[in-house]
Amino acid sequence: AARLRSGAGGEAEAAGAGPGRGGCASAPAHRGPGPCAACFSQGYYTRRGGVGDSGDFITSPEISQVFGELIGIWYISEWMAMGKPNTLQLVELGPGRGTLTEDILRVFKQLASVLSKCDVSVHLVEVSPKLSEIQAVMLTGGKVQPNPEDESAYMKGISKTGIPIFWYRDIQDVPPGYSFYLAHEFFDALPIHKFQRTEKGWREVLVDIDPEVPDQLRFVLSPSRTPATQNFIQPEETRDHVEVCPEAGVIVQRLASRIEKDGGAALVADYGHDGTKTDTFRGFRNHKLHDVLSAPGTADLTADVDFSYLRKMAQGKTATLGPIKQREFLKNMGIDLRLQVLLQNSGDTATREQLLHSYDMLMNPKKMGDCFNFFALLPHHRLVRPDKKDKPNSPLPPVAGFNELLLK
Ligand code: SAH
Repeated sequence: AARLRSGAGGEAEAAGAGPGRGGCASAPAHRGPGPCAACFSQGYYTRRGGVGDSGDFITSPEISQVFGELIGIWYISEWMAMGKPNTLQLVELGPGRGTLTEDILRVFKQLASVLSKCDVSVHLVEVSPKLSEIQAVMLTGGKVQPNPEDESAYMKGISKTGIPIFWYRDIQDVPPGYSFYLAHEFFDALPIHKFQRTEKGWREVLVDIDPEVPDQLRFVLSPSRTPATQNFIQPEETRDHVEVCPEAGVIVQRLASRIEKDGGAALVADYGHDGTKTDTFRGFRNHKLHDVLSAPGTADLTADVDFSYLRKMAQGKTATLGPIKQREFLKNMGIDLRLQVLLQNSGDTATREQLLHSYDMLMNPKKMGDCFNFFALLPHHRLVRPDKKDKPNSPLPPVAGFNELLLK
């Protein structure tokens, strides 16, 4: 059955830029100006964490079950293309309410005969205690064990479909092994640094307390270079205003190293651009745009993901694919066929209308279809066959989503 989520579409659209999400605000704890990344860091997710209709933003998996199902099929198709390894870790970064994992696990269950010889486990990287509780209820019915002694995880449980699930605060705590990583609306939530090119060179945009207005924050330019201007601006940068998320860079480096060493793939889906946009930092509260400088800690702060930066940070350790627009990715994954099947199977008009409405939200170029993108990290050998004398002419199967899905 379709997931019914009334109102989500209208509200997100009214906000103008799709559902917001992001880093987190807390007033500068220091005296004097500080980088955006330091002033607006952890706090929102650990305290408020508003995913869903009643929160500050709504995400694709919350809009339609089809989204997660197609991502589940993407993993199965990559697992098959990579020769069906006998263990598979699904590692999700920032799982929100756990809806996406739930939808993926349903697909894994439906395709249990395909996966029968594979030892599947789920690993969730989540900093928010509140959201990890919600995920535990959603995925295990709340039957979890906190602080298991034998694991690097802070919590573990068994999914309703019988798959072991572990929770961690950091990707580095996830055990090594053949893994499929997923980051949906995760990177946009991480804190950014903002920079401006001036006549005197690059300057960092800092956050300061306004001396004229009590309790009001303001943006100021650093009077001279900062360590960040020296470390985070690429020498070939042509833009005058740049936002950089070094934490995203570090995480992509880790993902690329792990995939290079142990195999697997990473699928990143987020709103973003390929190194072209300049000022995207913004806040959302109750589905409406919100001044990033007011009431710190109460709004979802976000910046578009710069996929060109993520590609650079993979440092050639893996191949990269994309970014490709969400509507193209989902179309390649067969969303139209899936919609037809759901429409045929749904008896009532309200459900059918809801299915069409959520399809429109995900696919319409003016809604989420164009501004959301998919990007993947894959081992080089997945795209280019290393010289093999025995099979010189056999082509590698295309990567679904970035090409049309061919399930054999
Ligand atoms: N992927 C989900 C939710 C996205 S919201 C969806 O699409 O619906 C961002 C998620 O990232 C939240 O679960 C938040 O708590 C988590 N998060 C934010 N910063 C994090 C960090 N540094 N490490 C791990 N998780 C983080």
